[in-house]
Amino acid sequence: MHRNRLRIVVVGGGIGGLFAANALIARGFDVTVYEQAPALSEIGAGVFLTPNSVRQLQRVGLGPAVEKAGARVGTGSHYFRHDGAPIAPVQVTDSVGWNATFGMHRADLVELLAAALPQGVVRTGHRGTGFEQAGDVARVSFANGATAEGDIVVAADGIHSELRHYAAPPSRPVFHGSVAYRGVLPHQLIPHWPTDRWMMWLGKARHFLTFPVRAGELINYVGFVPADAEMKESWSAPGDPGMLRSEFEGWDPRIGALLSQVQKTFRWALYDREPLPAWTTGRLTLLGDAAHPMLPHLGQGANQSIEDGMALATILARVDSNNAPTALLAYERLRRERVAAVQRGARENGMRYDSSYTDLGVRDAEIAAHAAFRRRLYDHDVVPEAEAAAVALMRVVNP
Ligand code: FAD
Repeated sequence: MHRNRLRIVVVGGGIGGLFAANALIARGFDVTVYEQAPALSEIGAGVFLTPNSVRQLQRVGLGPAVEKAGARVGTGSHYFRHDGAPIAPVQVTDSVGWNATFGMHRADLVELLAAALPQGVVRTGHRGTGFEQAGDVARVSFANGATAEGDIVVAADGIHSELRHYAAPPSRPVFHGSVAYRGVLPHQLIPHWPTDRWMMWLGKARHFLTFPVRAGELINYVGFVPADAEMKESWSAPGDPGMLRSEFEGWDPRIGALLSQVQKTFRWALYDREPLPAWTTGRLTLLGDAAHPMLPHLGQGANQSIEDGMALATILARVDSNNAPTALLAYERLRRERVAAVQRGARENGMRYDSSYTDLGVRDAEIAAHAAFRRRLYDHDVVPEAEAAAVALMRVVNP
């Protein structure tokens, strides 16, 4: 293995921070992850992994763990109108037909990412609150009074990032008027539910999604509905299963049957931010939702954060501490355009999913045609382009 002992401080032990730590350690860096929570944990909900990120998970040796903990989603996946009338198949492979789309329980994904890290890499109970840099040292301070120094700092502390303002111009999260009720149900409660497919029903201002997780033992559901003022303010809170059921009354009876089993649920207000013009300053850069929070309507937030981590590790592998700030800028330049396109694409897809069209025939045709966008998204491999960016960078720093 190529040894490269840049010291890297990652703030945030979510999917983005933990994958970045795996990719950076695979390149020989000295990495510490600081997580605010007293223990690594995740909410009881699913996340959908697509070929563009599964390719990167495989590169760090996590392919078998994903296959074991996930549920492969196959070609029976479909979009329906609210009453169950079929619209179009869902694209689940890349252009060459590689099926690497998995439903995962978020806790399973966090656990497998953390389990792959050497002992002592993750330090919990550290909430990053401050950043400073002087010469070739970058320093984070934590609410518990501790500090950590490195050659660079990667803020992967999510949509509410506390370190973001050190690296990016101020901006406010944009609220999109809806909330997502999320949860998982044991498959034995709904034994006829398919365990091999992603299914989504589209109605006026609402849509409903299910996919399997944990090898099909659990079915993940998400109900997207309009929000009231209180929901907007609370970001996330326990939800009322009765309210969730009433939101989808009169829809495909399959949804009613599933929701009749829900005993508890959680809801999230849906926010994103406008794409950032820049997210790096000197030895600090952002990653994942801290840099580019997006609506969940392409299921790409976690997938893009995984691409970020691999891009960062690939570019940094070529440089020493002196050149690290230039490398961080190259990483940001490489990622900015792609994630902005995905952020915009997620907003557009939300309009389709919530049936914000006067002619639903047009919407249905767009849903069918959107498979081409997904194929391009899934075909993407961030490594070759990151290698090319790194080579170009070296020509500049070592002419
Ligand atoms: P987070 O997961 O938010 O992790 C940030 C971590 O940093 C957390 O552990 C937090 O505790 C920690 N932290 C925060 N502040 C500090 C601090 N100051 N100091 C130290 N630690 C801190 N994405 C997909 O790819 N596929 C999907 O199917 C999908 N479905 C979604 C459905 C919904 C309803 C929503 C809302 C999102 C969905 N996403 C999906 C998006 C995905 O969840 C996020 O994009 C992804 O989790 C981002 O990872 P992250 O590590 O950047 O941020």
